[in-house]
Amino acid sequence: MPARAFDGDAFVEWWTTGTPRGRRARRSEAGPLGMMTPIELQFLGSGDALGSGGRFQACLHLRGADGGSVLIDCGASSLIAMKRAGLDPNTIERVVLSHLHGDHFGGLPFLILDGQFRRRTRSLQIAGPPGVAARLEAAMEVLFPGSSGVTRRFAVEFLELIDRCPAVVGPATVTPFEVTHASGAPAYALRVEYGGKVVVYSGDTEWTETLVEAAAGADLFVCEAYFFEKRVKYHLDYHTLMANRARLGCRRLILTHLNQDMLDRGADLKADIADDLQVVTVD
Ligand SMILES: [Zn+2]
Ligand SMILES: [Zn+2]
Repeated sequence: MPARAFDGDAFVEWWTTGTPRGRRARRSEAGPLGMMTPIELQFLGSGDALGSGGRFQACLHLRGADGGSVLIDCGASSLIAMKRAGLDPNTIERVVLSHLHGDHFGGLPFLILDGQFRRRTRSLQIAGPPGVAARLEAAMEVLFPGSSGVTRRFAVEFLELIDRCPAVVGPATVTPFEVTHASGAPAYALRVEYGGKVVVYSGDTEWTETLVEAAAGADLFVCEAYFFEKRVKYHLDYHTLMANRARLGCRRLILTHLNQDMLDRGADLKADIADDLQVVTVD
């Protein structure tokens, strides 16, 4: 069983597979909120699960001026997207997962195998909903039997995110807010504090007032807008989101996880939409 420790204001205890040792995560390197450190966000995937528009699946790369970074979600296509973007996957040190659907975490088996075959030595930290380690192991065994138990040169460390409990993830502090999306484990909107900025990301959910809480005061809110106006259980449509736009206390909103219905609307949209490999400065 994983150890879990609450250290003042954040969970910090990680546990390890691949090597028989535990490791305590470093304290957050992020400065206190209010310190203005430029950070940027690259969309390594802005599409839905089914490849609409030829887009990659959900994946965001948040990076600071300190050279640190956090990967947020890692869909099944994300290793390809990293290589398309010229980002060396072996430099990814930590991944935070919104929920355990294949278009949000299915790239991890490929990321781990790529590291194994390219002599990665740097530890990989994965923070996600309860059960994340078992789900990843199961995915690896289905896709590449025997792959989950091999001895690697690098450790894979896990942290289970608990609803509304801040967690230290490298240079960032991540607070998950449970949303409404069936995926075999809790699904979260993720509030990420990094470099004095707040970036909030919601992967998949139907409308919930929790989004208002999660996005309050954010510099940037990246949110799923799956359909234009059609309401689908467990997903969010553009009309519903924009009807609540004034209540979302975020300075900037960018829509992602777009299906063909959204991509066809183009000029009708009165909000920014993400594009694959697009880089956004969070200021
Ligand atoms: Zn999902
Ligand atoms: Zn999804």
